[in-house]
Amino acid sequence: MAEPVVELTAVTRGYPGTPPVYAVRDLSLRVLPGELVAVVGPSGSGKSTLLHLMGTLDRPTCGRVRIAGYPVEGLSDRSLSALRAAHIGFVFQQFFLTPGISAVDNVAEGLLYRGLSRRARTAAAAASLRRVGLGHRLGHRPHELSGGERQRVALARAVAGSPSLLLADEPTGSLDTASGARVVELLRELNAEGTTVVVITHDRDLAARLPRRVVMRDGRISEDTGDAGPRTATAQEAARWR
Ligand code: ADP
Ligand code: MG
Repeated sequence: MAEPVVELTAVTRGYPGTPPVYAVRDLSLRVLPGELVAVVGPSGSGKSTLLHLMGTLDRPTCGRVRIAGYPVEGLSDRSLSALRAAHIGFVFQQFFLTPGISAVDNVAEGLLYRGLSRRARTAAAAASLRRVGLGHRLGHRPHELSGGERQRVALARAVAGSPSLLLADEPTGSLDTASGARVVELLRELNAEGTTVVVITHDRDLAARLPRRVVMRDGRISEDTGDAGPRTATAQEAARWR
């Protein structure tokens, strides 16, 4: 079997306090190459914490995290930055674009640590924007774009370096239905081209249409439709989420 892209073993992430908060507790999860996974669950159930652990933006209090085969606990912060730059793309609900600079420069910024010339970064950024349907908006600055277009710029930035793992935290949360649908369509296309995708969503219709759903509750996985690899949800599974 292929090596998992993400492997969490008995992972806990606690925050000190009285009482301490356990955002994620004793959680184990494997995501295989090529999967498209939806993470759902109520607010405060630990979804973002889980995504940050998968993205090596956070370290567990205890337990083991392996990303693309690398044990996170054994790596320095500097090595983790390199691991992220090489393997992981992030998209967040709030886009996080740099104001005042063009779409193409925003995407090119994401390639700064790739050892590419400025010219090569710009060319790759333009190609990535064309891929998300924004070839006609290369020179637009964030405030000149709609919410849906901004999120597509963020997506173009996340995938410009061809990450093997794309992590998205409520990427459609601030978008209207049509823009959100376009972003989901793009996630599916990227997945079809081989990118492993994990997406947090509170949209149950969206989750129902994705091949695998991991349901979080109180820092634990309360349901997982399986890690058997890519597949399509059955009508019966989809109906449960309606
Ligand atoms: P979700 O994304 O599902 O809404 P989070 O992962 O953001 O949930 O948070 C899970 C729990 O951990 C929440 O109870 C939250 O208040 C708590 N939490 C998250 N970050 C911190 C922090 N930095 N310090 C203390 N508690 C935190
Ligand atoms: Mg969250």
